[in-house]
Amino acid sequence: MLTSGLHSTIYLQCALVLQHPREAENLGRSIAEHFQAENIQTVAAPAIGGLIIGHEVARALGARFIWTERENGKMVLRRGFSVSSGERVLVVEDVVTTGGSTRETVAALEANGANVVAAASIIDRSSGKAHVGVPRIALATLDVLSVDPAVCEACKRGEPAIKPGSRKRQEAGGRSRRQDKNQRPKTKDQDN
Ligand SMILES: [Zn+2]
Repeated sequence: MLTSGLHSTIYLQCALVLQHPREAENLGRSIAEHFQAENIQTVAAPAIGGLIIGHEVARALGARFIWTERENGKMVLRRGFSVSSGERVLVVEDVVTTGGSTRETVAALEANGANVVAAASIIDRSSGKAHVGVPRIALATLDVLSVDPAVCEACKRGEPAIKPGSRKRQEAGGRSRRQDKNQRPKTKDQDN
């Protein structure tokens, strides 16, 4: 079970690469290279998944870094963060699946008057299909199956949906799920 609620045989855990600051810095620089000419004033990311990579992109661009988070289910700017009218903002996430978190972050910033120039992520697991309302790039694009639980074949077979990295999975440890033979389950926390 992805954070989006979709079911997939692949779960990516970006925290495992971002735990290494040098790797995080390099990934941030790689994303920043796409936007050097865009005069980005601020990088914004949805918490928690976007925090580390967003910070590194901001560092590489010499920009400010802020984040959005959910308050009563709605993505908002908190902690005294604000944007000025027309401020040029880049939205950064770790992984885009449906684009939901990025889209909500774009909307929250635009509601505050920002000019959201583009969005970016380390991984796009939507095969390029996710639309977030602004131009978007990813360092790597994956074509992996993600399905609505209502049409999930594994669920129809009665297999339990597991959210990797959560306590539930540890409780379910040892119980193996059927996986595509070529696709071992990786973990990833912030699939949106
Ligand atoms: Zn399922």
